[in-house]
Amino acid sequence: MKALCYNGVRDLRAERVPDPTIINPKDAIIRVTYSSVCGSDLHIVNGYIPSVLAGDILGHEFMGEVVEVGSGVKKLKKGDRVVVGSILACGECQYCQSQSYSLCDNTNPHAWMTEKMYGDATAGIFGYTHAFGGYAGSHAEYIRVPFADVGAFVIPEGIPDESAVFASDAVPTGFMAADMADIQPGDVVAIWGCGGVGQMAIQTAWIMGASRVIAIDKEPERLRMARENSRAETLDFSKVEVMEALREMTGGRGPDACIDCVGMEATGEGWGYYYDKAKQSLRLENDRPLVLRDMIIACKKGGNISIVGVYSGFIDSIPMGAAMNKALTFKMGQQHSQKYIPQLLEHMQNGELDPGFLFTHKMSLEEGQKGYMMFNDKKAMRVVFDPRMN
Ligand SMILES: [Zn+2]
Ligand SMILES: [Zn+2]
Repeated sequence: MKALCYNGVRDLRAERVPDPTIINPKDAIIRVTYSSVCGSDLHIVNGYIPSVLAGDILGHEFMGEVVEVGSGVKKLKKGDRVVVGSILACGECQYCQSQSYSLCDNTNPHAWMTEKMYGDATAGIFGYTHAFGGYAGSHAEYIRVPFADVGAFVIPEGIPDESAVFASDAVPTGFMAADMADIQPGDVVAIWGCGGVGQMAIQTAWIMGASRVIAIDKEPERLRMARENSRAETLDFSKVEVMEALREMTGGRGPDACIDCVGMEATGEGWGYYYDKAKQSLRLENDRPLVLRDMIIACKKGGNISIVGVYSGFIDSIPMGAAMNKALTFKMGQQHSQKYIPQLLEHMQNGELDPGFLFTHKMSLEEGQKGYMMFNDKKAMRVVFDPRMN
């Protein structure tokens, strides 16, 4: 089959690779119809996440058609139109039983790699380096989906493919971001980052009863989408002093909840950006925690901080004194796909969540390099590969 493979930093190539096969009775083989690029893929492509090898297939946000199921698969059948969560989960370990699927104990065969750095292993993620399991990703004509009954969901009638594909990652990640922020009716919510995940966090904040949602970015097109598609007020951090603006907009108090949908490759205007950029290039810190610092200072006393932007390792100069003395609550994590997908498909079906506008560019796998570079340069909201195209 054809697949888009990593070949080195910012070097992706469409190649011929062997077709996947069922290797465990709980596997299904999916013919991929759409596979999207995600901001967190850029961290790999840009060389910030180790343990990716030449020939690895990227991609973790996808949907498709079931073409084969193992003998142990009960819920799915050939021909089903499914969306698959990015995170692999067994459904049976103590973490899965408590719906903390991205902490699954059984889906990362390379547990030792993350155990060394993190103290524990995380769940496997499709197409997301060997430290996260070494699973082949979805930028391919076919993909093997282990624990298919747990991770693949039949898409209800009425949700077009162009929206459904985002129920794999952008929607559940945004949904979980808002859920972790524990938004109460009337809350003012500030969201950093207006990519796909940020847009979905905005839309979920409304479902949870937020009275105001303030979205922060600097890309004009993303800010426009945040206003027009997701109904947020927006702040362009290249034009306004965000801290001051947030104070002013909240009567001097600060937002009730602050959500980080940016993560390790944040950009900014002040000293922090240059400090982090220098330390990161010298490999003296892994991530650029600009958003994290801003959120701690901006958040109201006793407020909630929710982090779904991806961080990989060590970070510097976090105002922990402010966080502690302001009694902030922190929640963070990779999305628990399997917990959120069923409920968000319902919200999508009744129109409360609408990710369709994220689908700005459709390309073939052969155009993979071009698509990733466009996305990297923020020239596309989401590039979606259709492996059926030539
Ligand atoms: Zn992702
Ligand atoms: Zn599990």
